[in-house]
Amino acid sequence: MSKTIQAIRGTRDILPEEGRYWQFVEATTHSILRRALYQQIRTPIFEQTPLFERGIGEATDVVGKEMYTFTDRGDRSITLRPEGTAGVVRSYIENKLYATGGVQRLWYTGPMFRYERPQAGRQRQFHQVGVEVLGSSDPRADAETISIATTLLKSFGLQNLHLAINSVGDTADRQRYRDALVEYLTPFKSDLDRDSQDRLDRNPLRILDSKDERTQEIAQSAPSILDYLGDGSKRHFDRVCDLLTQLGIDYAINPRLVRGLDYYTHTAFEIQSDDLGAQATVCGGGRYDGLVEQLGGKATPAVGWAIGMERLIILLQKIGCSIGSAIDFFIISKGDRAEAQALAISHRLRDAGFTAELDLSASAFGKQFRRADRSGAKACLILGDAEAETATVNLKWLATGDQETIAQADLLEHADDWRVRLKSEPAPQNNSVSV
Ligand code: ATP
Ligand code: MG
Repeated sequence: MSKTIQAIRGTRDILPEEGRYWQFVEATTHSILRRALYQQIRTPIFEQTPLFERGIGEATDVVGKEMYTFTDRGDRSITLRPEGTAGVVRSYIENKLYATGGVQRLWYTGPMFRYERPQAGRQRQFHQVGVEVLGSSDPRADAETISIATTLLKSFGLQNLHLAINSVGDTADRQRYRDALVEYLTPFKSDLDRDSQDRLDRNPLRILDSKDERTQEIAQSAPSILDYLGDGSKRHFDRVCDLLTQLGIDYAINPRLVRGLDYYTHTAFEIQSDDLGAQATVCGGGRYDGLVEQLGGKATPAVGWAIGMERLIILLQKIGCSIGSAIDFFIISKGDRAEAQALAISHRLRDAGFTAELDLSASAFGKQFRRADRSGAKACLILGDAEAETATVNLKWLATGDQETIAQADLLEHADDWRVRLKSEPAPQNNSVSV
């Protein structure tokens, strides 16, 4: 036997059992975003490397250490996308999405790639769903996107979530703050972790979210960026906070929550969970009024977020949200004629909108019955020689044991009654959510 080949480190297969969670999360997400009239955009999984260097920033960990970059056969530098925003903004500019005027509300989902140390909730291929609102500087756009994120996470029944929010001001505010921060940190330079020492010149704001304990201690007493905001930035931030309060969304202001690059402006936020251990952040986002221009477009204000799907699904599994695949009818049959009729019935039921599983085993009725019970189906349809002969089918409701015989020709005349009954009938197994 030849040697087996394994999945690449930091990637994983999503097997059918877990796939149900993905479908549930995707279906719920789509329906919430559809009602808010966000439109989906799908951009390529790889892009020219400079898009990310300019769109994320060379001084970030993502660009500095985490990108999957390679040279293709045409000698071009290509990068597997580490996040979604840069590609969306490139597409927005390239396809002149701004030409219709007004605000573009977009969303995307798909795999992202970062060369990181794999651990629980951290992979090299992971998935995000994200939104981007382009063309509005109104604080209501910030509040709208944040509120959609919290609605979405709450719709899954998640608790113990914390929204942290901050303002990083505009470029001028940040320049003033940066100077003050460097002045404060320089005397501690030798106490900072290595990465932070490097960042002191290149990207000092990022030092504030260093994970190193000693650095964090030092950062605790650093000046607060909120004391360096100009009037316009202050007004924007106060208004966003006010709107969140009016929407009944709890938040905590965290002046050490930053995005270190010049095209990030004003609002920065994160949603963390108590139930995720070290990889606590489920959602990260904020305003990036300078990015469209940075990537060669006309200056356009924008705000967005991204949710890490793996972390979301870990949370769903932790709270014990069990997702059944909700089988309406399990169909068992034996004998050539009955088996052919059962196959036809399975298609008729599906065409009418029911879920139906056909037992293909041809094993004894007893065994097929046991499988029907285990399947979690609400009803079972039974066809043997007698039913085949009379062109009937035997229907059994599995929770109550109620049975009736129905002519195959009249099968779908019962469809409306069944829909009502299937809704109220408890499933024999305890499936709390269905996809
Ligand atoms: P972290 O601090 O955990 O590295 P980040 O700041 O790099 O997160 P963002 O770039 O803001 O993360 O991405 C948004 C979300 O995507 C994160 O909050 C997280 O849920 C998810 N995410 C980011 N990197 C990974 C990864 N390597 N594996 C799984 N999920 C990830
Ligand atoms: Mg990261």
